[in-house]
Amino acid sequence: MFRKTGFIWHEAYAWYQLGNEAGLARPDGRGVQPDRHAYDPETVRRFRNLVEMSGLADHLVCMKPTAASESDLLRVHTREHVEQIRALSDHITGGEAELFMPVPAGGFEIALLAAGGALMAVEAVMDGKLDNAYALLRPAGHHSTPSASRGFCVFSNAAIAGRYLLDTRGLNRIAYIDWDVHHGNGTQAAFYGDKRALTISIHQDRCFPVDDGFVDQLGEGDAYGTNLNIPLPPGSGVDAYIAAYERVVIPALEAFRPDFIIVPSGFDAGAMDPLGRMMMHSDGYRVLTRKLLAAADKLCNGRLVFTHEGGYSRWAVPFYGLAVMEEISGHKTDITDPFLDWHRALGWQDLVAHQVAVIDAAARNLQHVPRGA
Ligand code: ZN
Repeated sequence: MFRKTGFIWHEAYAWYQLGNEAGLARPDGRGVQPDRHAYDPETVRRFRNLVEMSGLADHLVCMKPTAASESDLLRVHTREHVEQIRALSDHITGGEAELFMPVPAGGFEIALLAAGGALMAVEAVMDGKLDNAYALLRPAGHHSTPSASRGFCVFSNAAIAGRYLLDTRGLNRIAYIDWDVHHGNGTQAAFYGDKRALTISIHQDRCFPVDDGFVDQLGEGDAYGTNLNIPLPPGSGVDAYIAAYERVVIPALEAFRPDFIIVPSGFDAGAMDPLGRMMMHSDGYRVLTRKLLAAADKLCNGRLVFTHEGGYSRWAVPFYGLAVMEEISGHKTDITDPFLDWHRALGWQDLVAHQVAVIDAAARNLQHVPRGA
């Protein structure tokens, strides 16, 4: 089945460039030789280039975003947060919002384009111009809370887009499925007391942030039951992810019955990622995408938008991204993932007991998810 799929990209996203850290280690003139920052723009550019070179772009609606407005940002963020990023960005060398959170000179304007890309994607799907969309955003958003930037994330792009849908488009309920290997703490924080959003994060237990993302964080006040965390143990493979979707994610969606689904989409759960310790591969992402598509078709007229988050393997991320794009558009290219056979054959791709224990604990929280009409 072919679908009208949007692909949102702006060259400025690849101009959001951090320092000369060796991964995350700051050069010190002695032991740490300068190298490329872990959050390397080549990763998203190679993803974008593969979408073009594979021929898939010919079947997509390629869209160039415009900047989000300040009032869009203020749907989620405090004015102090916005002003802090603007001030750092206006400095000749940029600055650091907190540890591991550099903001480059000119970064504010690109962050506005990232939030604007998420808004453009959900708006076009709401208007019926698209069936679904992938917004290949940078800087990412899911670690950014209403009051602070964290983990390379400046503004909470997915949360801003969701608030727009709830506040201005008449939607009552939206759902987030965050499959980045790190916890979606920013999206969780934005909606922790807002019962209109179901926020689900499936991540590596205590990878980042190490003090958040636990299974007993369920939301507060009348939003209790609308936040679900599935903190899988390091080493989890494709079978653990599939089990988590079948036993927690999809049943939660079917209970909550959202009007729109947003997927903060990091590809750092892939087996080659330098910052994660999971074992996903491109076929695994295909299976999860098909499950999300089926749920969106059943619950919300197929309304599904992916907002790009992390993913640090310059080599593998493009193939994970292409797999997702092929599934959501229905167009298969003749490109094969050169890493797939290797990663399929890795030991411990099967579901094992200590993973089941976490999934069981998360599944017990399904009883608290508010039932949608
Ligand atoms: Zn991540």
